[in-house]
Amino acid sequence: MAGISFRNVTKCYGKTVAVANASFDIQSGEFFCFFGPPLSGKSTILKLILGLETPDEGEVLIGGQPVNHVSPAVRNVAMVFQNLALFPHMTAGDNVRFPLVERKVPDAAIRARVDAVAAKLHIGHLLHKPPSQLSGGERQRVAIARALVRDPVAYLMDDPISALDARLREETRVELKRIQRELGQTLIYVTHDQEEAMSIADRMAIMEHGEIRQVGTPVEIYDAPASRYVAQLLGAPMMNIMPAVRGERLEIAEGTILLPLGRAPDGVSGVGIRPEDLKVEPWRVDHGGKPARVFEVEPLGGYTVVTLDTGTEKLRALMRGQPDVMLDSAVALSCNPAKVHFFDQAGGALGR
Ligand code: ADP
Ligand code: MG
Repeated sequence: MAGISFRNVTKCYGKTVAVANASFDIQSGEFFCFFGPPLSGKSTILKLILGLETPDEGEVLIGGQPVNHVSPAVRNVAMVFQNLALFPHMTAGDNVRFPLVERKVPDAAIRARVDAVAAKLHIGHLLHKPPSQLSGGERQRVAIARALVRDPVAYLMDDPISALDARLREETRVELKRIQRELGQTLIYVTHDQEEAMSIADRMAIMEHGEIRQVGTPVEIYDAPASRYVAQLLGAPMMNIMPAVRGERLEIAEGTILLPLGRAPDGVSGVGIRPEDLKVEPWRVDHGGKPARVFEVEPLGGYTVVTLDTGTEKLRALMRGQPDVMLDSAVALSCNPAKVHFFDQAGGALGR
């Protein structure tokens, strides 16, 4: 186990800046996620950790030691194959053994190591089976065993479960989190799925155009996003961000939501309200602001997404259960002032 750090690392491919001045510290034993849209530099970060790429500038450290010029083999960081694919023509046991056989490790040592890893991952009883006879969760464990058999300092996964169907993805996510906790080994995980990142990571880094925009626990970042970009990347439906005008009160979204002026910091240009924080009630004249109209209602079973039309904006509210909201009816919108996010002209957060 070892911590992994970047100090101002930049990596370019020709004119493309794949990773720009990235700095972070991943603690030993941590489940750390890189999350961002496609082409934001996530895979390049993994390649820099593995040693498949060398930084143009800055330093990569493993266990506090600079490794810019250390070969991938000596770094001993394990990449878990994409989609956690196993060799279908080999048994689970042969799959796990494979990295050691490839390195010509003596038979007795292989046996001892495979037994130890199989015990850790509770897969001893599966080793004789071909992958086709394993459940999704079992395949996951076998694939991780194959990565662990080398006893790496950290293991890396690049969007490993994106190809699985939704149900299997949920199952695998829970399984991965459990395995990582049991093993207590550093796991660095790339995903472009916000729900996956939020649910799986101890901490995560949010990427955009090769830059790290924010690092923190999922809840820290969700509750206090550093920018509009980060705010709208996490959460579904995404955060409503609306223009605000100072009058007697702070008038948000055409004056359909009113807030006490005292809450609004100087320089506020946009106001953010998460769908679960937007309160929708039948219209009443003492609301003070203007009514919004119910534009669409999407029942999801446990929750309902209600889209509201303010005249110029479409806002989304996430309501518990099946609320009694009529299509096209006039409604009063409000929000607990403590839940409102403020952004400046450039999209930076001004706090809450
Ligand atoms: P992500 O994994 O977030 O999708 P990548 O790290 O793969 O992003 O890519 C970041 C940027 O670097 C992209 O613009 C991509 O096109 C570019 N890039 C990545 N690898 C190479 C390469 N081997 N050659 C040229 N450009 C690359
Ligand atoms: Mg990638």
